Amino acid sequence: MKKIISTFFLISFALLTHSATADTAQQNRQATSNYYTKLVKQQRLSELTMLMTMLPKGGDIHHHYTGAIYAEHYLDWVAQQGYCIYRENDAQQKQEKFRIETRPQFINDTNKSCIKVDAVRQDNTFYRALLATWSMLDYEHHLTAPVAPDQHFFNTFGYFAPISKFNTNQGLKLLKERAKAENQQYLETMLKGAPSTDHPQFSATIDALPQDASVASMHAAFKEFADFLAQDASAQKKIADYMEEISKDVAGIDDNDFQIKVQTYVSRNSAPSKVFSSLFAAFSASQDHPIIVGVNILKAENDVVALRDYALHMQMFAYLKQHFPRVRLAMHAGELTLGLVSPEQLQNHIHSAVTIAGAARIGHGVDIMHEAKADQLLATMKERNIAVEINLSSNDIILGVKGQAHPILVYMRSGVPIVISSDDMGVSRNNLSHEYFLFASRYHPPYDTLKKTVYNSIRYSFLSEQDKTKQQRQLDQRFLEFEAATAKIAKGEVRKF
Ligand SMILES: [Zn+2]
Repeated sequence: MKKIISTFFLISFALLTHSATADTAQQNRQATSNYYTKLVKQQRLSELTMLMTMLPKGGDIHHHYTGAIYAEHYLDWVAQQGYCIYRENDAQQKQEKFRIETRPQFINDTNKSCIKVDAVRQDNTFYRALLATWSMLDYEHHLTAPVAPDQHFFNTFGYFAPISKFNTNQGLKLLKERAKAENQQYLETMLKGAPSTDHPQFSATIDALPQDASVASMHAAFKEFADFLAQDASAQKKIADYMEEISKDVAGIDDNDFQIKVQTYVSRNSAPSKVFSSLFAAFSASQDHPIIVGVNILKAENDVVALRDYALHMQMFAYLKQHFPRVRLAMHAGELTLGLVSPEQLQNHIHSAVTIAGAARIGHGVDIMHEAKADQLLATMKERNIAVEINLSSNDIILGVKGQAHPILVYMRSGVPIVISSDDMGVSRNNLSHEYFLFASRYHPPYDTLKKTVYNSIRYSFLSEQDKTKQQRQLDQRFLEFEAATAKIAKGEVRKF
């Protein structure tokens, strides 16, 4: 009897404690919601910046590794390698200002124009100009380059390319620390392009496909090349080496509070046969590697080749998806705007990525309102649960689309899931917190919507169901802590470190 009574008291105590904790959590949540709403309504932007920095952010699932590293870190690596950087243009010597020289024989007194990183940093004017050339820093204020913003944006990658893959493991550690500092727990990054293979006959057949080729003839050309690639020892070795390289890149990055996965990708501005063999490698690698969770296609969507081959690329995806059905696709599509291309080019990119290629997520999706039957497309995306990765800074910088001109609210009103992501934070000079700040300050989502959007970054990630459950639990805990801290800030209490 005594035992029954004491058990009864123990259970009652546990229930009481549990409900007290639940009550406190509920109060903290309400206080956070009220405080956040007040900051947004009154446009108290500085305080909102702090709140968005503290906010748990789940994952960043539209993220380019090379575009995420800041120029300052690339300079550290140039120094570590002992490379130099040209201070002047010299056409005769084939020297271009701000370019990295990777050949040691040019790094001595014989070439005074090539200076080491220490000298770069001592020359403040040159240093600042270099940062502006390797990123969008100062672009808006000073128009440092006589080229259009989208061109300047994509040009930056050419400057740091010689150093960007110098030590990928070290770079990922750096990005992980940055992510953790802004309360992010998962990263799904586009790390390295998949390798391509050439074949004199099969490549030529694909490259010679006419613009009006039938789907059947495209697939026939894909089939003979794919059959070759599947059994060719050299092509298979490239894929195996690529997979091994990715394993080494991510070694030691995961810990209890942080997880990393990788998307593989192809460039949409290469010859069709190169895109196809590279896509074949991407699908193969993604099918067989636990870290490579998805395939993407990228680079400027308005380039001549990208526009010319768009329909062909979609058929490549459709063909390979049939043969690698488990592989998931996140695709850059609709990163266009009226005037950047002719109106005909705005009519079907997102639609084709969704209905022909089989994309599970769309990157950017900015031009959706120009698509033919945009309303039906939005309904299809909602029905198929296809998330859109929203990159507010990037869309503003590259396309000049922001504020009410951005379709983010249309996606939200149409019930299409959205995620907030950073795209290229090193080039844009932003971070994920700033993207949430733009989301909150410009579009005023209610607190519950903001929170749901954070959860979307795990829900629509390409993690396994088991990993998603683990990450969602961790996110629950992070929100409890965040809301407890915010409730104190809202009351004006000083938190102890
Ligand atoms: Zn992107």
